[in-house]
Amino acid sequence: MIPYGRQSISEQDIQAVVDVLRSDFLTQGPAVPTFEKAVATHCGAMHAVATNSATSALHIACLAIGVDKGDIVWTSPITFVASANCALYCGAEVDFVDIDPQTYNISVEQLKTKLEHAEKSGKLPKVLIPVHMAGQSCDMAAIHALSTQYGFRIIEDASHAIGGKYQDLPIGDCRYSDITVFSFHPVKIITTGEGGMAVTNNAELAGQMQLLRSHAITRDESSMTHASDGPWYYQQIGLGFNYRVTDIQAALGLSQMSRLEGFVGRRREIAGIYDKEFAELPITTPWQRPDCDSAYHLYVIRLQTERVTPSHRQIFESLRAGGIGVNLHYIPVYRQPYYVQFGYHSEHFPEAERYYAEAISLPMYPAMTDDMQAQVIASLKHVLEI
Ligand SMILES: *Cc1c(COP(=O)(O)O)cnc(C)c1O
Repeated sequence: MIPYGRQSISEQDIQAVVDVLRSDFLTQGPAVPTFEKAVATHCGAMHAVATNSATSALHIACLAIGVDKGDIVWTSPITFVASANCALYCGAEVDFVDIDPQTYNISVEQLKTKLEHAEKSGKLPKVLIPVHMAGQSCDMAAIHALSTQYGFRIIEDASHAIGGKYQDLPIGDCRYSDITVFSFHPVKIITTGEGGMAVTNNAELAGQMQLLRSHAITRDESSMTHASDGPWYYQQIGLGFNYRVTDIQAALGLSQMSRLEGFVGRRREIAGIYDKEFAELPITTPWQRPDCDSAYHLYVIRLQTERVTPSHRQIFESLRAGGIGVNLHYIPVYRQPYYVQFGYHSEHFPEAERYYAEAISLPMYPAMTDDMQAQVIASLKHVLEI
């Protein structure tokens, strides 16, 4: 089976991990801040907080901003469930904004309309979590302009998007957001096994996230309620978690960061070949905004169902049966059984529904060979009966 995504691990990556295993610190050592600095520098962000997953980074990002019971958080329905769950962890309500039919990112038009209605009903969101679907940035300048007009904060879910650019600057520079979150799960652009990171230009948010990552325990006397009892002393000044990443993982992440440009370059090359091969087929290839350079975490095609005889499901099943590990990113979050209790109406998200009926993620990862890609292309043409 050719999977839809997988990691690329080099001898240099392995050596970096082995070096940590032979060192004094497996966790809470020097590799974590070095990795944080590398990501912050790449992004052009001032602060970075590494975590054991993007899910935990999203959780402490929401908490640092102050998301609480009674608050409302909006995100895209076409995302991994973690983009919405982070708000539920904080006791907040979640609502969704339908997607743009071309980019599959949150629709700025729909966002505007929904904000106008929400203002009238007094139900404006505290935070918006735009998701950079497949690695292509949302229209952050437009979203940021709306955030100043309506007073909401922004957490970018850039789990797909490290190495991508928006208006020629790296995703993660946070010039249009409070915090940006990355995932380092093995199918993503770079990996630490499990892992994530939050970057920000706001020192206070960074400090809050650092505390929350590690039990809200401080050894900094200026943050304590009274003078230290002695050299052993620390205080727990809030309710935090153990969301730390190990030095073993951070060393892998640092080594992977040095390969980021190569990874994204190869992904773009693969996307270019798919685009060319599929130009005449009854499928829609990923449209790219002229001001974006996608990191191409995913390559999502959409079936032009009126021009294709077999059903979406039949095509999916035939490709899987033929050893092509296609996937579907994503089932709209409001369709998940856990979310049904909150009473969403699928009619409010016609573009997400249409997307769900047509989308297929094809294999896309740097280690996919030209032969493997040719096999994917031939299989797709075959099942489309062309
Ligand atoms: C992968 C992913 C996450 C969660 O990442 P983890 O590191 O696995 O917690 C969140 N949001 C999106 C959009 C993702 O693709």
